[in-house]
Amino acid sequence: MGKVVLVTGASGFIAKHIVKQLLDGGYEVRGTVRRAERGEEVRDAVRPHLSDPARADECLTFVVVDLEEDAGWDAAVAGVDAVIHTASPFPIAQPKDESVLIRPAVEGTFRVLRAAHEAGVGRVVLTSSTVAVVHCELPEGRDAFDERDWSDPEHRSCTPYVKSKTLAEQAAWEYVTDVAPGMALTAINPGFVVGPPLDDELGSSTSLVVRLLSGKDPMLPRYGIPVVDVRDVAQMHVRSLERPETAGRRYVGAAGSMWMAEMGSVLKAAYPERRIATRNAPTVAMWLLALFDGEVRSILHSLGSIERASNARAVEELEMSFIPPDQALRDTAEHL
Ligand code: NDP
Repeated sequence: MGKVVLVTGASGFIAKHIVKQLLDGGYEVRGTVRRAERGEEVRDAVRPHLSDPARADECLTFVVVDLEEDAGWDAAVAGVDAVIHTASPFPIAQPKDESVLIRPAVEGTFRVLRAAHEAGVGRVVLTSSTVAVVHCELPEGRDAFDERDWSDPEHRSCTPYVKSKTLAEQAAWEYVTDVAPGMALTAINPGFVVGPPLDDELGSSTSLVVRLLSGKDPMLPRYGIPVVDVRDVAQMHVRSLERPETAGRRYVGAAGSMWMAEMGSVLKAAYPERRIATRNAPTVAMWLLALFDGEVRSILHSLGSIERASNARAVEELEMSFIPPDQALRDTAEHL
């Protein structure tokens, strides 16, 4: 029997790719979902993509748990060899009350780590984000953020989501330092994740590509972010799990950074018949638009800047060769 890995939030866009790669890699997978029927959706989503589709029925089980409730976590971790903790709320529009995101992210991370520690599970890979890295001032003399950098939850560009991811990753490292020093924790910090979903369900990040393709916006915010393909993000999780030397480290997952207008241009070149915006909107227009549009409101304080994050450590230590961001975007659009 293969090693058993618990994947939290198995119904997520990224997690389904992780589940697929784990099953293809010979692991048994236990996924957590919030509702039992979501488990069957995950099974159906991954089955056609597996090299041996029967593994979706033979080697994949589910447990129903919620990040906000204690019930069920002990049973979820019982007998597993490792945990990949991806579950966290990820909305596009930001809530007025930031605790709606921060509480499940931080308390949920504690719950997962505590249950793992108490069950003697010594290996955890955590899905963090570049948003836990880049929301601070770039140290002088550097042109990109990297794993040494930590977002400052009080920084003007922080949204509730940014805070939730930063505080959750900090909580995980603190837990390992203070309570479970024997636990081998690795954090994966992906940028904006695109690439083909395994089924028809759109995550928050792919729905931004839908918005670009829809032509809803005549112009785009002058703002840029690190982009990475979901297949590479899943591979980073699996490779980290398999390499004990990655314990205690963070790994930025980014193929390169793109301005929103560059993303528009890549999609426009692929679909010239569509009305896809490729020009930057004046800043004043974005402030006006933000009055009505929560998605725009969440990036107002980042306008005019492009976040750059170095993937050097992932390339060197995880031997990642990242799918170029324009290809990842085109593959997403083609799937959609
Ligand atoms: P999805 O929204 O597709 O997946 C989020 C997952 O978390 C879902 O399975 C969801 O369950 C689960 N979840 C949310 N709240 C709870 C809760 N209270 N209890 C239990 N499960 C919960 O997003 P992604 O796949 O894109 O994101 C996965 C992870 O990757 C998250 O941690 C996110 O922060 C991180 N990330 C994502 C990036 C991106 O661009 N996509 C970039 C960087 C990091 P349900 O299906 O029931 O809603």
